[in-house]
Amino acid sequence: MHGLMMDMPLSIPLIARRALTLYGSRPIVSRRPDRSLHRSTYHEVLGRSARLARALRRLGVKPGDRVATLAWNHARHLEAYFAIPSIGAVLHTLNLRLHPDDITYIATHAEDQVVVVDKVLWPLWEQCTGRVAARHVVVMSDDGIVPPGTLDYETLVAGEDDGFAWDDLPEQTAAAMCYTSGTTGRPKGVVYSHRSMTLHALGAGMVHVTGLSERDTVLPVVPMFHVNAWGLPYACGMFGAAQVFPGPHLDPASLLGLLADERVTLTAGVPTIWLGILQALDAEPGRYDLSRLRAMLVGGSAAPSAMIRGFRQRHGLHVLHLWGMTETSPIGTAAFLSPALLDADEATQDAYRAKQGRAAPLVEIRGRSAQGLIPWDGTTMGELEVRGAWVARQYYGADGPDDRFTPDGWFRTGDIVTIDHEGNMTIQDRAKDLVKSGGEWISSVALEGALMGHPDVAEAAVVAVPHAKWDERPLAVVVMKPGRTFDEAALRGLLEGMFAKWWVPDAILPADAIPKTSAGKFLKSALREQHRAHYGVADESARGG
Ligand code: AMP
Repeated sequence: MHGLMMDMPLSIPLIARRALTLYGSRPIVSRRPDRSLHRSTYHEVLGRSARLARALRRLGVKPGDRVATLAWNHARHLEAYFAIPSIGAVLHTLNLRLHPDDITYIATHAEDQVVVVDKVLWPLWEQCTGRVAARHVVVMSDDGIVPPGTLDYETLVAGEDDGFAWDDLPEQTAAAMCYTSGTTGRPKGVVYSHRSMTLHALGAGMVHVTGLSERDTVLPVVPMFHVNAWGLPYACGMFGAAQVFPGPHLDPASLLGLLADERVTLTAGVPTIWLGILQALDAEPGRYDLSRLRAMLVGGSAAPSAMIRGFRQRHGLHVLHLWGMTETSPIGTAAFLSPALLDADEATQDAYRAKQGRAAPLVEIRGRSAQGLIPWDGTTMGELEVRGAWVARQYYGADGPDDRFTPDGWFRTGDIVTIDHEGNMTIQDRAKDLVKSGGEWISSVALEGALMGHPDVAEAAVVAVPHAKWDERPLAVVVMKPGRTFDEAALRGLLEGMFAKWWVPDAILPADAIPKTSAGKFLKSALREQHRAHYGVADESARGG
């Protein structure tokens, strides 16, 4: 017997219609490249988005065509987010931190037909032109002047009316794509469907994750060019939250100014952003009024527990730790405290906040080791596998079997985790970053978290370095806070007090900076390469990635 409920397609236009009818007056604020603020509303943004949709159709964009964006976070990017999928085309966000060769590869692989570029990013795109076979390049400019051979975004939008029906689309239609920022091999395309994006927006808004509502004002520091700014632009539209976009200005002072002035309630970004913000707040406590800020979402790499504690103890700010991947749209788990933990002391609560947490609704997790599925005992390590309504089942253009997907339909994440009896997941490492010393595994993430707990340390990364006796041994690279002196013995003492002796890195080295990936994570492959001979073994088979 079939259920007798409506088979209503879950598609992006549904979110647009809701935002238009219920939340039209909610603000959308963007910081322009010249630092001035542009103020708008959902009503205006979606009106312009409707005109953009019509203009794209007039340019010949057909359902299934890929339309790329190369842009910072701002209202026009949000217009593209709604317009492109709503005509059945595929929003392909290009990562502006990549090398032009990689952008060229990705845009060519995706067969982008139209590219929408920020004028301030023209010098980057210019290095790709001629190599990407896009039919049209549209430039978003504030002064009406665009490079020869390109189309002016504002002229296109002004040339249309906003008579656009925001009709539903079949829910399995592709809505958007994003390439993985993998440090091994070529980036791979993940293709999100209207259904997965809509469900993800709903999931992202739930209380386990963000608890979004129209009372919120959200500032996504996390870029709209990487995994759809964690789905926040759509989730905000669905729940009526105002949005504040920082444009290209991501330094701590600019972000803190915007968080305070716009009375932001929720913000999101990778740990390296928040480490910088914490240092700025520590340097000038009380300078910014962040009393409205109810949560800072942190994900993309492990949030050090000292950072989480520092925000809470010194500034009364609450960090919510999330785990996810490009392949998981990205929200997979969130460290939302269970009722039992609400009565626990603060140290216990902080320990849980530093875990990656429990699976979001409609997502399932499990771990697998060489012995089979791992017990949920909080200590056995295994590779995390995940499945759910917004998890990829295949990469774009992949033909043939792919060992990233299990025969029974789970995605193999490449993350090494433990899971406790309540389902709280802790990332121990990326599989390729684990230190395998004498046959035992050492978590580089745990060591980094401890080092970053030292009050004088700004950033720390731990990598595996080939070793004659132990196969591999950990090596730590540490960046001190400005004006603080590197003291190896003190750092060693800290680690010896927290870990088994054999976990403690043989070398702890000072550095001016740690190389970062395009998503702001530590680029450990570069560190491994730099230090691979440090323990005296010039290993030919040194790991890539
Ligand atoms: P990406 O697809 O570029 O977003 O990268 C996904 C990877 O980032 C995951 O597989 C994890 O290794 C890492 N990651 C994401 N969130 C976290 C987190 N909260 N803690 C530790 N690692 C994370």
